[in-house]
Amino acid sequence: MARPVDQLPVYLDLRARLVLLVGGGAIAARKAQLLVAAGARLRVVAPTRCTELERLCELHQAEYLAVRFEPKHLQGVMLAIAATNIAEVNSAVSAAGRAAHVWVNAVDDAKASSCYLPAIVDRSPLIVAVGSGGQSPTLARRVRAQLEALLPQRLGELARRAGLHRPAVHAALPEEAGRRHFWDDFFDSDLAQQLLAGAVAGEEFDRQFAAQLAAAQIPVSQPGRVQPASAPGLATRGAVWLIGAGPGDPDLLTLRAQQLLQRCDVVLYDRLVPAAVLERVRRDAKRVFVGKQPGQHRTTQAHIHELMIKYAGQGLRVARLKGGDPMVFGRGGEEISALAQAGVPVIVVPGVTAAFGAAAAVRLPLTQRGLAQSVCFVTAMGEAAAQLDWRALAAPLQTVVFYMGVTQLPRIVAHLREHGAPGERPAAVIERATWPEQRVISGTLATLEAQAVHAAVQAPALLIVGDVAQFAAPPLATTLQEP
Ligand code: SAH
Repeated sequence: MARPVDQLPVYLDLRARLVLLVGGGAIAARKAQLLVAAGARLRVVAPTRCTELERLCELHQAEYLAVRFEPKHLQGVMLAIAATNIAEVNSAVSAAGRAAHVWVNAVDDAKASSCYLPAIVDRSPLIVAVGSGGQSPTLARRVRAQLEALLPQRLGELARRAGLHRPAVHAALPEEAGRRHFWDDFFDSDLAQQLLAGAVAGEEFDRQFAAQLAAAQIPVSQPGRVQPASAPGLATRGAVWLIGAGPGDPDLLTLRAQQLLQRCDVVLYDRLVPAAVLERVRRDAKRVFVGKQPGQHRTTQAHIHELMIKYAGQGLRVARLKGGDPMVFGRGGEEISALAQAGVPVIVVPGVTAAFGAAAAVRLPLTQRGLAQSVCFVTAMGEAAAQLDWRALAAPLQTVVFYMGVTQLPRIVAHLREHGAPGERPAAVIERATWPEQRVISGTLATLEAQAVHAAVQAPALLIVGDVAQFAAPPLATTLQEP
C-alpha cells in the first residue's frame, strides 16, 4: 500500500469560478490579488474594506457585501478563504464550510482549514507548489526561494512550446515509450537549452523542433553504435556553453551559470577558476584543466579549441568555464568563431568581470559625479601595451582599470606619468578580489610601485587608477600582512 500523505496537492482551475473571501484588510487584499490572478470571480464579505481591496473589487467587478459573514454567503462557491484576524469569524467560516461541503482556507489557522494555499514558483503553465499543511508557511516560502533560483525563468515558455508541439509528436510517434524517450531527449537537447537561454525563439525554434522530431522517427538503435551516457538519442547534440565564472567568490555565479554547471558532462576550466566554483559543477562531470602557461598562448589556445570540438562531437555538453566574464579579455571571440567553424552550437553566459568584483569588494565606485564620468577596461600585457593611447588613459575625470600581469605595474605607471598623469593621482591594486585571500593596496601613482613590491603582490591582480581609487577600503576582517 502507498505511504499515507498528509494532503493531496491539486491544481484548481478557478477561471470564472465564484470564490468567497471573508475579510477586508491587507491580508484579504493579498489573497484577492492571488485569486483574481488565477481568474476567479470574487464575492467579498466584510463590514469594511481597505482601499486596496476596494480598488481590486472595482477593477475585477467583484461582488462586495458590507456585512458580517453568514453561512448563506457560501451559496454557489466551492472554495472560501477566511482572511480576517478574528478567530471566531474564521472558525464560523470553517464550520459553515464543512457543513456545506465547501473547501475552506483560514489564513494562519491550520486547524480551521480544510485546504492550504502553497507557496508557488510560477513558470506557468509549469507551476511548482510548496506546502507544509499550514505547519510552517515560512519554511515553505524558503524552499520556494531555493527553487526559484534553480528553475530557469523561461521554463514556462519551454512547457508552453512543448504543449504546442504535443499533437505533432503524438502523430509522429504512435508508441508511448517512443514519445517518452523523445521528450526526455528533447529536454536534454541543446535546442531546449537554447530556448531557456533566450538564444532561440518562435519560428526558428519550431523549425528546429520539427527537424528533431523528423530525426526521431528514423530508427536509431543500430547494433554496435556507441552512445554517450548523457546523450542517448539522436535528438541530443553536443554543445559548448561559454560560462563566466565571476571573479572568484562562487556566490557571484549567475543563476544561469549554476543551472548549466549542474547539467554539463565535461567542464574545461582556467587557472582563474577557484576550487570553490568547481564545487558547484555536477558531481559526475569530467573536469579538465586547460590553464595556460605564459608564453605558450597560441598552441594551448588551439588545443582548447580542439578539445571543445572533440567533446561536443561526442554529443557531450561542454561547459567552458572562464574567470570573470567570457567576453572581457577572455578570448571568448576566438573560441566562438572556432566553434562556429566546426558547426558546434554555443551559448554564452555572462559573468561578473574582475573589475566589478573588485569594485564591490573594496567598496570603490567606478563612476562618481565630479570624479569619474567614464570607466575604461584596459589590458596592458606584452607588446600591445605600446599601441595604447596613453595620453587618453592619463586624462583626468575617468577611472582606468588595468587587467594586467603584475610585472607590468612599473611600466603602466611610467607610461601614465610620461603622458601627464600627476603623481598624486589615486591608484589601487586589488589582488584576488572576492577570494578569501583578497588584499588591497591603495596609494598614488607616485607611491604604488614601492608599496606593491613591499607587499609582494601576485597574480591575479587589478590596477585601478583615478580619483575614485582613494575610496578603496581595506577588507573589513583582514589587514595587509608584511611580507
Ligand atoms: N575574463 C576575465 C579577465 C581575464 S584576464 C574577467 O572578466 O575578469 C586575467 C586578468 O584578470 C588577471 O591578470 C587580473 O588582472 C584580472 N583578474 C581576474 N580575476 C581577478 C581577481 N579575482 N582579482 C583581481 N584581478 C583579477
